[in-house]
Amino acid sequence: MSSSAPPGDDRMFEFQPEMTAADAGVAAPFTVLSVDDDPAFQHSLRLALSDFRFDDSPLQLLTASSAAEAEELLARTPDVSAILLDVVMETDDAGLRLVRSVREQLGNAEVRIVLVTGQPGMAPMRQTLQQLDISDYWLKTDLYRERLQGIVTGTLRTWREIRALGRTKRGLQQIVHAGRQLAGVHDLGEFSGHMLHELAQLLQVPADGMVCVRAEHRDAPLSSARVVSAAGRFTALCMQPLEAIGDPAIRQALLDALQRQTSLEGADGQVLFFDGGELAPQAAVYLATDRVLDDEERELLRVFALHANAGLINVDLAARLDHVAYCDPLLDIPNGNALERELERVLAAPSARGCSLLAVDLGQYTHGSLALGAEQGDLLLQRMAGRLRQLYPPPCMVARLHEGTFAVLGPSAQLAADPVAALEQGEDDHALPFLGVDAARVDLDRYSGQARGVVAVALLLLRRARNRGELAEYVTEGEAENRARFLESRALYRAVREHRIHIALQAQVSLEDGRIVGAEVLARWTEDGQPVPPARFIPIAEASGLIVPLGRLVTEQACQALQALAQAGFADIPVSVNVSPLQLRRREFVEELVQLLAQYGIEPRRLELEITEGVVMSDYQAGRNVLRRLRALGFPLAVDDFGMGYSSLRYVHSLPVTRLKLDRHFIASIDQGAVDGTVSEMIIALGRCLGLDVVAEGVETTAQATWLRQQGCPCAQGFLYARPEPLEDFLQRLRAQAGAA
Ligand code: C2E
Ligand code: CA
Ligand code: CA
Repeated sequence: MSSSAPPGDDRMFEFQPEMTAADAGVAAPFTVLSVDDDPAFQHSLRLALSDFRFDDSPLQLLTASSAAEAEELLARTPDVSAILLDVVMETDDAGLRLVRSVREQLGNAEVRIVLVTGQPGMAPMRQTLQQLDISDYWLKTDLYRERLQGIVTGTLRTWREIRALGRTKRGLQQIVHAGRQLAGVHDLGEFSGHMLHELAQLLQVPADGMVCVRAEHRDAPLSSARVVSAAGRFTALCMQPLEAIGDPAIRQALLDALQRQTSLEGADGQVLFFDGGELAPQAAVYLATDRVLDDEERELLRVFALHANAGLINVDLAARLDHVAYCDPLLDIPNGNALERELERVLAAPSARGCSLLAVDLGQYTHGSLALGAEQGDLLLQRMAGRLRQLYPPPCMVARLHEGTFAVLGPSAQLAADPVAALEQGEDDHALPFLGVDAARVDLDRYSGQARGVVAVALLLLRRARNRGELAEYVTEGEAENRARFLESRALYRAVREHRIHIALQAQVSLEDGRIVGAEVLARWTEDGQPVPPARFIPIAEASGLIVPLGRLVTEQACQALQALAQAGFADIPVSVNVSPLQLRRREFVEELVQLLAQYGIEPRRLELEITEGVVMSDYQAGRNVLRRLRALGFPLAVDDFGMGYSSLRYVHSLPVTRLKLDRHFIASIDQGAVDGTVSEMIIALGRCLGLDVVAEGVETTAQATWLRQQGCPCAQGFLYARPEPLEDFLQRLRAQAGAA
């Protein structure tokens, strides 16, 4: 296939599906080497084999008259199938020495060796024959024509089998290797680049080819197909539309493969078709091979394609999750998750970041969206986003947090001016002005906390700024707030020391039949007769380090609950506890946990550990190692609040976790038919794809439950089924269920 061939040229190779090697016409000859210093024997051998055919192919007979000559010849010709070897040549053991050198120096374990000798009594020991993998041993006088042909046939047959086995094994190793390589990649371009190279390695040809993808969705017109990755002499085609491919045969083959949804095979190239499944786009890969493939290679390609297709689905899923998870669907600008991700990055820099965060609220929308009507409201937001981007061009990042609240992250110098006046003035005289704009600013160089914290601080300031008509500025944390937190952490410290932290259990049910399949253990603290919400005291415990003894108290009570469950006949109900990053980061964590379980005689598989997405990301490698150890010990691991942010979406498939807890924010938006339904849908599919269990959190309505069941989500937790309750009540619930059954 040359790229200079004119369009429609009939000489061009026809790609055809499922072509067999026989169709290709030419069968490769088999090569046999005869090594003998007796010219008369060589001559009679040539005569005896002159009309010999094996599987319809002729024989290519090479000859050498000494071990030295043979060695040289073999080094140059790796494809020799069999050697007919005279034992005695230059020296008495020249033949055997040659065999040793073939096996051990040249490392050729496949070539078959038949020893021949003119002198009876020169037979080597049986052990030597076995050790050097010598197939046969014959006296020259016994080698009449038919027998010789029989021996050669048998030898070639064995050689073919051995070689096929070797190749399949190498091929499968290659596929496993490729699978590992591909699993680590999450960008479509990068993935297809790797795929091309792995494929080329598998077939042992140079990476000359390209990967085409049929746009974003399955029904996209063929004309939208484009090259997402290219290598070798096709490199320049990368990111070009399919039409740009100069070689008409290759272009047509790729089009045909996509249209007919089948792989195609040619004499000098392969097109593999990837269906992509329900979720991913269809793709076709062209690789130049400059030869016809044989049956084993075809089988290997089939296995490779299965692997690669699964990889492709993952990549696409990750990309789409990324988009939905980090993009505001209405305004097509970054959302809160994306902002937090960027904030994490900025805050990771040691100091002098020179960046600020600006929060802007459009009161007109936030408080008046009902009066505005949905369409007007959307228009207003779109205008606001546009105006903000105009005021704060890149490198500033403009994101929408929620409703009419936006945030801008960028260099402090660019964010220096008070935006309220600029925004309320409007962009031109015709457009309606924006009303009730509030703004707050946090200088990140004055802030020392987490990304989520900055956003919370900015929103708090925004609330304070409300209706004051001026920018609220972050100085340091408010005096009063500081004092309140201090008092609370002292009270919490006493509560932990006096073991006044208790647990509540919230049932988790199977969506298939509504039966209780487990429970989440949640911490409870009551001070002066008033319950303090965990959303209040857990952050304080985390900030003060109290989360470590608190977590231990909770885990110990979880063990006691597991004991009580077993005693009541519910040994099959596992529970889960929340583990905070701080706990996980302690070196003693795993050991202490194992000891605690041993003390109560609880098996690790009954105690699930819930870890938030952030942990997995923040201290990535170290965090991962701990997770691996915990998995190896048998603890089930769940990713809590999954889908809320960070890029763990991209990593989740390589994490040693067993379950995803779909964050309740996504569930809450299901009834409203919001786009978040799509996230839930994709996470459920992702779980299925990766063989992970998925539990939906915060299920409050039957409509949500029905939708989740339809999506194939296996498990749910929420007020619809049960509130968090004391152990006694949870046991009662289990007994009632057992009684009803
Ligand atoms: P989480 O791990 O996401 O726990 C689930 C929270 O959702 C619980 O709030 C639970 O009461 C609430 N919830 C359950 N079903 C529904 C529902 O249908 N609708 C709504 N709106 N909410 C529902 P809770 O108990 O207030 O806990 C809040 C957070 O505090 C937990 O969120 C968890 O992050 C943290 N937390 C609680 N106990 C512990 C603990 O022992 N250790 C650690 N490290 N964190 C804890
Ligand atoms: Ca949890
Ligand atoms: Ca959760």
